[in-house]
Amino acid sequence: MKVDGELILKPGKERSLARRHPWVYATAVARVVGKPAAGATIAVRAADGAWLAWAAYSPESSIRARCWSFAEAEAIDAGWFAARVRAAVARRAMLGVATNAVRLVFGEADGLPGFIADRYADQLVVQFQAAGVNAQRDALLDALGAATGCANVYDRSDSATRQREGLPPSSGIARGAAPPELVEVHEHGVRYLVDVRRGHKTGFYIDQRDNRRLAGELAARLARERGRAPAVLNCFCYTGGFSIAAARGGAGSVLSIDSSADALALAQRNWALNGLAPAAAEWRAADVFDALRALRDEGRPFDLIVLDPPKFAASHHHVERAARAYKDINLSALRLLAPGGYLLTFSCSGAIDVDLFQKIVAGAVIDARVDCQLLARLAAGIDHPLLMTHPEGEYLKGLLLVRI
Ligand code: SAH
Repeated sequence: MKVDGELILKPGKERSLARRHPWVYATAVARVVGKPAAGATIAVRAADGAWLAWAAYSPESSIRARCWSFAEAEAIDAGWFAARVRAAVARRAMLGVATNAVRLVFGEADGLPGFIADRYADQLVVQFQAAGVNAQRDALLDALGAATGCANVYDRSDSATRQREGLPPSSGIARGAAPPELVEVHEHGVRYLVDVRRGHKTGFYIDQRDNRRLAGELAARLARERGRAPAVLNCFCYTGGFSIAAARGGAGSVLSIDSSADALALAQRNWALNGLAPAAAEWRAADVFDALRALRDEGRPFDLIVLDPPKFAASHHHVERAARAYKDINLSALRLLAPGGYLLTFSCSGAIDVDLFQKIVAGAVIDARVDCQLLARLAAGIDHPLLMTHPEGEYLKGLLLVRI
């Protein structure tokens, strides 16, 4: 295939590509041949000139190229992108998830680095997070339309990741008609309204689907075994995902905390949409760090506590400060956890791996002077796969603890 340029790597830097890792860091590049534009398809070559991969060029990013293919015979054209999108969508159809809110394409994991496509009922929402997929916008949108039959696509390319690529934020209608104010989806029998224009990510935390169901199951188990409906605390509740799942499972009361008034307003609509009693819900617009301390003063124990904070560590530079923040909220939560109660605690910081997260939470357990068992390690749902050659793709991890 003829391309607009080539990246020649420094000696020895071909090794990660030989292991089919999809990123080429700027520090690995010896020189650029030609004048490729941002997002252009280029050849990556070893120092001795050997062909290694077809990739997309990201001149502004510390990830200087993202690989499309390790097969030299492949032509990276519209047909190639269509095939990748088709394959990703077909794989999702095989997963059997009980929902119509699904991640159809998940960047590197689906061989399309930086491209996200989520489906909310018949509305698609996309993000172009890297120069390569940004340059292939039309081919990807055409392919997505053909693979799903969905006419309406909304673009939410307004995440911070684009800045690192030198791309401006962009959002709006990408194809078809404007999305409705709120799109209704269902997940394991629970109904949620999603604001695809203004919501976080593409509107909803699709990745927590199975963990929300687990919260519902834990609430049901507590109610059954103890003969009284459990008290639930959901911190960083956003639009009420875990709160509603727990209430549907049989929680007697759910206190939900978030700093965003808009998120809480939508959470309350979601609560009502599921026919749940208003009296069982308490909503607090507050900073969780402060609210947890205030709850301690109130002396109010909880049988199930969910901690699902935003990404505290945006990069490895922030790991130490983030670790302190994770420890702080986990310690506060453990002090509120009734004996026999469950803590579902999460981190979506890619820079904090599962072992470190477990250590941080163990530190909180020690300081709280309680005994806890780790019952399960949790992760994102099955439609957010991890490419085995790209461990950096792992971001969401959770722990299920029980206080004994
Ligand atoms: N568990 C949710 C997703 C949580 S997203 C779900 O399943 O849908 C994280 C949420 O934390 C956001 O709604 C954000 O508004 C809120 N948030 C961020 N920092 C906060 C803080 N310090 N105190 C309270 N809420 C905060």
